[in-house]
Amino acid sequence: MGLNIVDPNEFPDIEVKEISCKSALSLSGLEADYAINAYKGCSHGCLYCYAPFVIKENREWGTFVDIKRNIPAVLAKELRNKPKGSVRIGSVTDPYQKVEGRYQLTRMCLQQLKKADVHVILQTKSDLVVRDIDIFTDMDIDVGMTITSLDDNFRLKFEPEAPNVEVRLEAIKTLTDAGVNTWAFIGPLLPGQNDDMVMLEELAEKLNSSGVTEIYLDKLNMREGIWSRLEKSIDKDTIARYREIFSSGNDYFRRRKKDYEKIGKPVF
Ligand code: SF4
Repeated sequence: MGLNIVDPNEFPDIEVKEISCKSALSLSGLEADYAINAYKGCSHGCLYCYAPFVIKENREWGTFVDIKRNIPAVLAKELRNKPKGSVRIGSVTDPYQKVEGRYQLTRMCLQQLKKADVHVILQTKSDLVVRDIDIFTDMDIDVGMTITSLDDNFRLKFEPEAPNVEVRLEAIKTLTDAGVNTWAFIGPLLPGQNDDMVMLEELAEKLNSSGVTEIYLDKLNMREGIWSRLEKSIDKDTIARYREIFSSGNDYFRRRKKDYEKIGKPVF
């Protein structure tokens, strides 16, 4: 399959390219046997995202998405030939980012996975996920929604292109009302930005009443390249404080763990 450049007017804010992939299922260390990422890049453009450092991507994160156009066909073949195992969708990209509305690669992969009867764990920040309720029904799947704060200013600052919190909460409720097993991920926690206990307890209350079965919390996964991106939105004093908190041996998160345990399961 050749490489196509998509009409730039269709997604004016990002560079979108259609590519072909050789493999769909990659071995995963993230609570599943395999991972599927139908897109390379993510238009949500979260400042704290560690994906570019995992996939060793040098292009500016949030400005491009490569579409693995042939992934449903490749996946169908691999599901026949590889050992059966659980699959995580969305480990280094959001499976329901903007382009999914048009390309529906996540939807097509889900159809294949449902047919193969494998356990699927999916994670997103987008309400587009409710589009696929018809597939989730009677499927062995846990759908996770990431919500980092109740304060939309946090979202605007750190996840500029992701849907707002109200929309995400509504999506969870729609899924659970339809009988889909849902969980929530609060993270990454950034000291002084979204780890205030009053806000977190209120958020947990809303998540629980939306029907999630589990709430997980995680701290910022600090990689060297993330500093330069965070510096765009955080003042110098906070950056200096973060350099201390995220240095080895610092016990900030160990001390806070007991607080976080009141509302969910810290995974750090
Ligand atoms: S939604 Fe996830 S993959 Fe996409 S930019 Fe944000 S953290 Fe990265």
